[in-house]
Amino acid sequence: MPRARAASGGTATVYSSPVTDPCPCGHDAWAVPADQREALALAGHQNAIGHLLAVVARDNARWLGVLRCTRCGRLWAEDSMSSGHADMFFIYPITATDPDAWLAAARSLNLPSR
Ligand SMILES: [Zn+2]
Repeated sequence: MPRARAASGGTATVYSSPVTDPCPCGHDAWAVPADQREALALAGHQNAIGHLLAVVARDNARWLGVLRCTRCGRLWAEDSMSSGHADMFFIYPITATDPDAWLAAARSLNLPSR
């Protein structure tokens, strides 16, 4: 006579940890740009996620800044470049923990146009 398997007590695991959810800001998916083409893509990304970013520190004299994602708390650098006829801003992810110290040591990337 077949026996029914004992119920396991309803311990089904649900994988929905917010810790492992990638943040919509894409901090893990982006990197420091190597040329102006990549910076252009990051400028577009900045438009897309701008509502998530808050300014932490900014050096207006050097057009550099540090932004923080209000969702995951990680930091993005804000840099600028001359592209064609206009100066434009772009962002890239940084792993700094002290925004002011990062900004003090930061330099513009001066990306090649390629
Ligand atoms: Zn984020």
